Amino acid sequence: MRIAVLSGGVGGARFVRGLAEVAGAAAVSAVGNVGDDVEVLGLHVSPDLDSILYALAGLNDDERGWGRAGETWEAIETVRELGGEGWFSLGDRDLGVHLVRTQALRAGEPLSAVTARLASSLGVETRLLPATDDRLRTWLDTPAGSFPFQEWFVARGHRDEVDAVRFEGAETAAPAAGVAGALADADLLLVAPSNPFVSVGPILAVAGIREALAARRVPCVAVSPLIGGRAVKGPADRMLARSAGGTAPRHVAGCYPGLIDALVVDEADAGDLDGLGDVRPIVTRTLMSDADARRRVAEAALGMVAA
Ligand code: GDP
Ligand code: CA
Repeated sequence: MRIAVLSGGVGGARFVRGLAEVAGAAAVSAVGNVGDDVEVLGLHVSPDLDSILYALAGLNDDERGWGRAGETWEAIETVRELGGEGWFSLGDRDLGVHLVRTQALRAGEPLSAVTARLASSLGVETRLLPATDDRLRTWLDTPAGSFPFQEWFVARGHRDEVDAVRFEGAETAAPAAGVAGALADADLLLVAPSNPFVSVGPILAVAGIREALAARRVPCVAVSPLIGGRAVKGPADRMLARSAGGTAPRHVAGCYPGLIDALVVDEADAGDLDGLGDVRPIVTRTLMSDADARRRVAEAALGMVAA
């Protein structure tokens, strides 16, 4: 079975890892968000691709929830001592990845090619694809002004309510090399439990990707990032309440109109399954607190094929 999954960073990475463990690493192609990509200290940082990469390579820091295990922070502390650009924390090991990526991009290598090389160097068999090789950047319009994604998320701690999410470059962005094929060849399409607005939204803003999902001939199953109407972490619940009018399963499903056939929802949200329309609910426990739990969530999403 071939599986293609659209994924953001941390929530998505846990799910993609569970999928790779359950379905086999080589069966999975992950299409990652690049709307969060940011240039820091002259380096190209792709936080969501790296979260997936580190999770699949078993290098992620589970306790901190992002970045690499065994990380040290000497370089960024030096930057801060020197009055340099220190608002975005980059670990020393993580920096090594950004150095290699940045050099390759400057030499003209597409992001998809350097990402594949990084994955292969780290022994990752799952195909990791950026949604696009073109420049695509997420912007948030808030009552305090418009901010690029990381300025809103990291520098301002996502405290501003969001009136609109925009994707700079999306009009002309094409799916990265390999993405259209991965979507066309998949026996099952999945949407990870990632933030629908700022993690999955930028992926679906690439017209070729949205169109591939809309025209699918195989099932597409999304996993809700909410448990009991609350985000496990981050602003997804606040954004849903403000832009979609609530945090029930139907509000999550409403972020993917015509694009999904089923939604994996947590037991804590099973009390209000109204308004899902054609979207079939799959109820299970969705907290991916450990390896068994993330594999169970992956199995629930995969259950669609047997049904
Ligand atoms: P980011 O790019 O690092 O912000 O990561 P994602 O968008 O991929 O993931 C953030 C989302 O993952 C949040 O909305 C969380 O609620 C959700 N999330 C994190 N851990 C879990 C989990 O164990 N289960 C579920 N269902 N959602 C989770
Ligand atoms: Ca992200």
